[in-house]
Amino acid sequence: MTDTPVDILIRNGQVLTLNPQQEMIADGAVAIRGDRITAVGESAAMDPQPARKVIDARGGIVMPGLINTHTHAAMTLFRGLADDLPLMNWLDDHIFPAEATLDHRKVYCGALLACAEMIMSGTTTFCDMYLFEDAVAQAAQQAGMRAVVGEVLFDFPSPHYGPIEEGFAYTEKLLEVYHGDPLVTVAVEPHSPYLCAPAVLTRAYDLAQRHGVPMVIHLSETAAEVATLRQRYGLTPVEHLEALGVLAPNVLACHCVALTAEDIQRLKRYDVKVSHNPESNMKLASGIAPVPQLMAAGVCVGLGTDGAASNNNLDLFLEMDTAAKLHKVQRLDPTVLDADTVLRMATLDGARALGLSDRIGSIETGKQADLIVIDTRRPHLVPMYHPASQLVYAAKGSDVTTVIINGRVVMEGGRILTFDVEQAMADVNRIAALITSRG
Ligand SMILES: [Zn+2]
Repeated sequence: MTDTPVDILIRNGQVLTLNPQQEMIADGAVAIRGDRITAVGESAAMDPQPARKVIDARGGIVMPGLINTHTHAAMTLFRGLADDLPLMNWLDDHIFPAEATLDHRKVYCGALLACAEMIMSGTTTFCDMYLFEDAVAQAAQQAGMRAVVGEVLFDFPSPHYGPIEEGFAYTEKLLEVYHGDPLVTVAVEPHSPYLCAPAVLTRAYDLAQRHGVPMVIHLSETAAEVATLRQRYGLTPVEHLEALGVLAPNVLACHCVALTAEDIQRLKRYDVKVSHNPESNMKLASGIAPVPQLMAAGVCVGLGTDGAASNNNLDLFLEMDTAAKLHKVQRLDPTVLDADTVLRMATLDGARALGLSDRIGSIETGKQADLIVIDTRRPHLVPMYHPASQLVYAAKGSDVTTVIINGRVVMEGGRILTFDVEQAMADVNRIAALITSRG
């Protein structure tokens, strides 16, 4: 404790550190200096600490910000545009034609609206794959959110960059522009083994390794994908990536619904990380990812919402609730994916999945200050026997009142301070009108 004031002192909250020891402080406080957490302890012990700004958590919960390991933020533009359709029909007749009309500004507007929704429901970091990713990075910076962004790479001409060669050039430029950025990390993001030729996958992998950044890819999302890959290469998608030599600890595989027992062992052997997206998998009728088996094998699994066109929201509180319940009903076993496990998926394991666990994912001295305050003085959160249960099974994103990212207060009292949310909604409504009038 020093007399130099800290920048922010959050006090009077139940602090869920979600550190590896799962430490909890009943009446706790967190001190922040610059972008870092400098102290965590009892409110009474920390109170003499002078602070430039004091946030009174008033009996609420203070916890690390949630981490969305897979989304397509700008797809908020297509939320509810076309639902309840077979996957290929949905993509070919609705999503792909709408995406062909995108540009930098539209993606920026869609991504900024997504940032509003994510911040307001307690998410502080998201991992994105889309077109015009520079616009997504700019939206994240404007919003003050932490983001891992990557331009989607595939074999056919992109509505953004055209031929794949340009996609790699664009990715290299992003890597250069955002190198060392405090909020934005650039990843290399080949779409999937079915939309990327082997040469694209190996080149993407080499680029990711050279820069020490994640490679993010959709993998084994459906049984149809597995059938396609078996037909093309005589291998499962996971076997195919292994044969190409592109499995490694910095690979984040999204979905992983249709896996064999051997695939699970392979993912473990290479320490590949998995993003679980239960609501999207349910809505598109893709199936149920074998998450309990992946975890039993020791695979790190984070949680993601996928894009707003296939969810249709970006609220990780709802996703936690769904994840916890989906596996219970599938296995007819209420003990699988307990609340503590699901909470870890949405925080520290999400950070590990993105290669950021030394910086975020838990409230620990020295880590970057990404944390949220939840107001528990609400009928649906009373009484409070077990905070983890309450957060996973009863809380809603709208219970989050304060959000701090990288030491900056981006939301306070339920109001976003970094940009005009009304304007963001109006901008997206204008773009939606254009999409509708196109017919
Ligand atoms: Zn996706």
